[in-house]
Amino acid sequence: MTASNGDRTFVFEQIRERLRFYGSLTSLGLPRTTEVEAPKPMPVLATPARPAKPERPAKNETLEEIRADLGECTRCRLSEKRTTIVFGVGNPKAELMFIGEGPGQEEDRQGIPFVGAAGQLLTKIIQAIDLTREQVYIANVVKCRPPNNREPEPDEAEACRPFLDRQIDAVRPKVICALGRVSALNLLRTDEGITRLRGRIFSYRGAKLVPTYHPAFLLRNPGKKRDCWEDMKLIKKLLAGD
Ligand code: URA
Repeated sequence: MTASNGDRTFVFEQIRERLRFYGSLTSLGLPRTTEVEAPKPMPVLATPARPAKPERPAKNETLEEIRADLGECTRCRLSEKRTTIVFGVGNPKAELMFIGEGPGQEEDRQGIPFVGAAGQLLTKIIQAIDLTREQVYIANVVKCRPPNNREPEPDEAEACRPFLDRQIDAVRPKVICALGRVSALNLLRTDEGITRLRGRIFSYRGAKLVPTYHPAFLLRNPGKKRDCWEDMKLIKKLLAGD
């Protein structure tokens, strides 16, 4: 049986997209990946073990109102060492929202999420699915830098959570991408590892939630970029769907 023109076009398009994605990542000085991967089946729609609040409340708050309510927050001990609150940036009506772990040193200095080395990689990942940082919304599980970039403690994440949930409700994204283990475990309230969670579709506050690896992890483990690309393709498909 010979392949039709349509089949060939599809295969070429897949190869072109993948090369473009790897090309964008390697422009940060990462080694090129040459392995070819077997296609994976589409993940099954799954729900977290304990969904937080599946429904979006009717309240129509703006991000400005939520930021004003947050104020010069001292609700947890992270406020003691922070320089700047890193609230979130991007399109207030974004269809895609990225949620990371918490600000690092550069984010704490500038008050903008994902502006350090991991942020540069996140920007490339966003561009690889034909979007810009201005088109998406980016926030974190905690809005203040944990000292020495340690992971946020559960009570710190809980103190910030109502504000993150309100941001999600204000933006109303179609898809949320949880960046890394800490983001995924806090949002989904699960203790499953990121390797098992990534590439699956969960539901959170009316959005589809897809966990993937944190860009900082990808910088240390470039071999995992292939999985991230699969997750981004899935997100692109979800954004294109109803
Ligand atoms: N890592 C994160 O999780 N968030 C940031 O804003 C920066 C780095």
